[in-house]
Amino acid sequence: MRSQIAEGAVLEFQKLLGVQSVIFKKTAEELYGTSTLGLHAAIPIALKPHDRGEVIGIIRIASKYKISLYPISTGNNWGYGSANPVSPGSVVVDLSQLNRIIAFDKQLGLVTLEPGVTQSQLRQFLDKEGHRFLVEVTGGGGGCSIIGNALERGHGASGYVDRFDSIRSLEVVLADGTLYRSSFADQGSGYFKWGTGPYLDGLFAQSNLGIVVSATIALTRKSERIEVCALALKRGKSLRDLIDVSSTLLSELGDSVVSIRIQHIALLSTRIVKYPKEALVDGMIPESFFKIIAKDRHLTDWFVLIAIRGNRYTMPGVRTTLRKRMWGMTGWPIIFWNRSWVTRTQRLLDRISFLHTYARMLRVLGSSLAGAEGATSSDRPGRLPYWKLLGGMSASEYRAFMGRYSLDPDDEARCGLIFYSGVVALKGASVEQAVESIEAICRAQGFDPLIGFSTFTEHSLYLALPLLFDRQNDAETKRAHACYRALAVAGNTHGYPLYRAGIHAMDMVVDMDHPFWQTAEKIKKALDPDNIMSPGRYSKYKAPHEDQL
Ligand SMILES: Cc1cc2nc3c(=O)[nH]c(=O)nc-3n(C[C@H](O)[C@H](O)[C@H](O)COP(=O)(O)OP(=O)(O)OC[C@H]3O[C@@H](n4cnc5c(N)ncnc54)[C@H](O)[C@@H]3O)c2cc1C
Repeated sequence: MRSQIAEGAVLEFQKLLGVQSVIFKKTAEELYGTSTLGLHAAIPIALKPHDRGEVIGIIRIASKYKISLYPISTGNNWGYGSANPVSPGSVVVDLSQLNRIIAFDKQLGLVTLEPGVTQSQLRQFLDKEGHRFLVEVTGGGGGCSIIGNALERGHGASGYVDRFDSIRSLEVVLADGTLYRSSFADQGSGYFKWGTGPYLDGLFAQSNLGIVVSATIALTRKSERIEVCALALKRGKSLRDLIDVSSTLLSELGDSVVSIRIQHIALLSTRIVKYPKEALVDGMIPESFFKIIAKDRHLTDWFVLIAIRGNRYTMPGVRTTLRKRMWGMTGWPIIFWNRSWVTRTQRLLDRISFLHTYARMLRVLGSSLAGAEGATSSDRPGRLPYWKLLGGMSASEYRAFMGRYSLDPDDEARCGLIFYSGVVALKGASVEQAVESIEAICRAQGFDPLIGFSTFTEHSLYLALPLLFDRQNDAETKRAHACYRALAVAGNTHGYPLYRAGIHAMDMVVDMDHPFWQTAEKIKKALDPDNIMSPGRYSKYKAPHEDQL
């Protein structure tokens, strides 16, 4: 692996891009080398092309000098390695300046965009033109790339979950400098993603076969009505029952269900209470604390948010089915909230100080509704990564933090975050088994089980488990990584395997004894024989970060 780039290559990059767009090691490592994983990447230079012609030029030079490249769209892959290359020594290719919305089919809702286009940018474009389509937002905030997220197979925060699923066509610069285009790229704006022949677009998600320079994405049409209801699992009812009912609901109501999100009381607590530093036992929040939080709010161990959509004719049927199926699962009346009720009630609750606990709960419901409506509330990601840090701050430290509160958790030196992203079969028994294993591993390693599930596909749940730590504390950082690895091992046998891996964990997902990965490697060798594209990303991997841990 190269730690230095040949002088000739640097000169050629400068000639191609202009000197301003070639960023040298020190600045490159400041901009792209830190991450919430608590690792530091060695980056010899970073390049900022302006258009696809320059991307092709970069690849030709890299190929000539055998330099490995690591393309990013906006580089906000927080919790998975941010903008850090998987292999140290790779040159970061920052595509954020390729940020054009190239075409929009307003009848079908198909938008063709470049990798630098962010969630906020697309939202503004649609709002300005008055188009009735959603931007399927993720919790990463408005500054994240639509394409970067989809290429990681990211998930929508409050529904419309599988982000790569919305890709209708792609244009990708391959390692030999040629351009791949989807089968039907010339037949319209991507109204039929399969085209004719083998479906190759899927090769470019979670892989390292090229640099995606544009994609056509199918947007979801705004529904006439979107509503959310919140439930607490009734005492005496099991998580298993809840999941099985959710599965039935999904198959009965199909697309009318935007999402079903099931949160452990520990995860919900990150939204409704301050991190209880004073209550910690052996560095962890005791279960008794969560019991009190739950009791005070008429909650139990599991909290559920269900978002539904439809029109004035379909919604009554959807509501009735949901009420009937959930009958007996919750001690709460099932109330469906729309935007205007949430806004009015929130205003009222915010004014009455002794109702502040309910005001916070309603805010959780309101943000779920906003996600289902496709509203990017902020350019910032949520405050989840800072929950532990903020809880330990004095009033003056808190004020100072809020003063510098950044768009980017990488900039907050102590903010440690690793996302464990797993997938679980939508079956009560499978989820129960997964939860038992996750709780045991998290508690053994000293982490609170911040478990959240959302409906992912018709047959699966997405598991999001953030591990929060102080990344300036070496021992805690090591423990977080050990916990993640223990989860990844147990996930394979207890039904919650990793479905999206951080840059530090490619070795946990790639198994060269498996025919799947052997085939992937053959494709890689055929398309990129010199391994210049993102070496190690979802491919054969010798963990270069391990010596840092
Ligand atoms: C509080 C919080 C909430 C979050 N919520 C969510 C959520 O709800 N859903 C979710 O999915 N994530 C979430 N995230 C994680 C993450 O921040 C997002 O997934 C984010 O969108 C990824 O960063 P990005 O869009 O800048 O993609 P990038 O970082 O640019 O891309 C991700 C990876 O894809 C590859 N890649 C990117 N662009 C290209 C290209 N053009 N060609 C080839 N390869 C490319 C690169 O290997 C890159 O490392 C959250 C993070 C935080 C901190």
